[in-house]
Amino acid sequence: MSTESALRTIELIRCAGKAASAYRSAQKALREAHDEHSAVQAQLNHWNDHIHAMGGADRASPAHSALLSAVQEHQETERKLRKAEARLQRASTTTQGHRPALNRYPTERTRRRATTVLLDRLADYPVDLIRAADLIIIQTSSGKDSLVAMHRTVTAAQAAGCLHKVRVMHCDLGSEWPGVAELARRQAEHYGIPFHLVTPDGGFLGMVENRQMWPDAKRRLCTSALKRDPTGPVITTWVGELGLDRQAIVLNVMGVRGAESASRALKARLALDSRTTSANRLVLTWNIIHGLSEEDVWQDIASNGLEYHPIYDTGLERLSCVYCVLAGPDWLILATRVCFALELPHPQTFTELERRIGHSFKLDFTLNAIVAAARMLDAIEGPITWRRGDALRRHLGPAAADQYLALTR
Ligand code: SF4
Repeated sequence: MSTESALRTIELIRCAGKAASAYRSAQKALREAHDEHSAVQAQLNHWNDHIHAMGGADRASPAHSALLSAVQEHQETERKLRKAEARLQRASTTTQGHRPALNRYPTERTRRRATTVLLDRLADYPVDLIRAADLIIIQTSSGKDSLVAMHRTVTAAQAAGCLHKVRVMHCDLGSEWPGVAELARRQAEHYGIPFHLVTPDGGFLGMVENRQMWPDAKRRLCTSALKRDPTGPVITTWVGELGLDRQAIVLNVMGVRGAESASRALKARLALDSRTTSANRLVLTWNIIHGLSEEDVWQDIASNGLEYHPIYDTGLERLSCVYCVLAGPDWLILATRVCFALELPHPQTFTELERRIGHSFKLDFTLNAIVAAARMLDAIEGPITWRRGDALRRHLGPAAADQYLALTR
C-alpha cells in the first residue's frame, strides 16, 4: 500500500469511527427522549383519569393545574423526541456514507488496530512520510531529545527534498533555565528553518498564582494549558496559509523517547492526534527518536557537533523548567545548587510564591525544605562546579567530549 493510500485509509477509518460513535450517541439520546416522553405521557393519563373520575375539576383546583403542567411537559418532550429522531436520521445518513469502511472495520477495536498497523508501517519509511506531508512541525523544548529529533527530521526532510515544509515551534513558559528560548531559535536557524515562539499569557508562575496551586503529575496543567492548548491555533493558522482544497497532512514531531519512562514506552512512533485532527487536517504525532537510548542521543549530539544547553554539564539530565513539578528531591536540590552557582533568583521567587499561596510545591515536601537542604550541602561541600563538555564526559567519555569541543569551538 502506498503512503498516500495508507494516509487516506487512516482518515477513512477515523471518519467511520466518528460516524459510528455519533450514531450510537444519537440512538442513546433518542432512547432517553422516548423514556422521558413516556413518563410524562403516564402523568398526563393519570391526571386525565383522575379528573374524569371526579366528574371534572374547576380551573382553580390543584388537579387542574397539575394537568396543565403535564400538558406543557408533554409538548416539551414531544419537541425533544422529534429533535432526537432528526438527529438519529442525520447520523444514520452519515453512517451510510461510511458504510464501506464500517463494513471493513466494524468495531472500535478493529479500527484502532488497523490504524496502529498502518501508522507503524508509515513510521518505517520516514522519507516517504515526509514527502506525503504538507507541513512538518518540530515542537522543541531545546533539550537534548528535541535537538536530536530536530536533527533527524531535518536530515530526512533534506533527503526527501522537503526542507521547505519544516517549521520549529517553541513554547516559552518563563520558568525555564536562562537561554532556553534563544537556544531553540539558534538550533532552528542552524538548519535554516522558520522558528515560532509561543508565549502563553502569564506563563508558569502566572498560572500558579491564578490557581493558588502548583500543578502535579495528575493535573499537569503546565503542559496541557500552557504548552498544548496554545499551539493548536498556530497549527490552524499554518494549515490555513497552505491554501489547500483538500485535507492537509501535518506531522507534529516530538522528542519523546520510550526509554524515558514506562508511560512513554507505551507511546507509538507515529500516532493519530485525534484531538487536533479535523476535516481540514490530519495531524500525526511523530516520535521520531522513540527507540533511542540516552547514550544514542548524546552520540548523535557529539558526532554531529550539535549545540546543547550548558545546564546538562551540571549533572541535570533534563532541560526543563528550573523547578519541575515532576522532579524528585535530589534533582530539585541539585537544581537549587546550580541556581546558587549561577546567582539565579529562582529559589527565592519560587519559595516566596509557595509561602504566599500556602500550597506545597510537592505533596510530600516543600520547596523551602529543598532550598534549605541545598544551602546545607553547599556549606559542607562548597558550591558545585562544572566544565563545558561534562555531559559528554559522563555519557560518552573524555575523548568524545574533547572531540566535540574541538568540533564546536
Ligand atoms: S518542565 Fe515540569 S514544570 Fe515545566 S512545564 Fe514541563 S512538566 Fe511542567
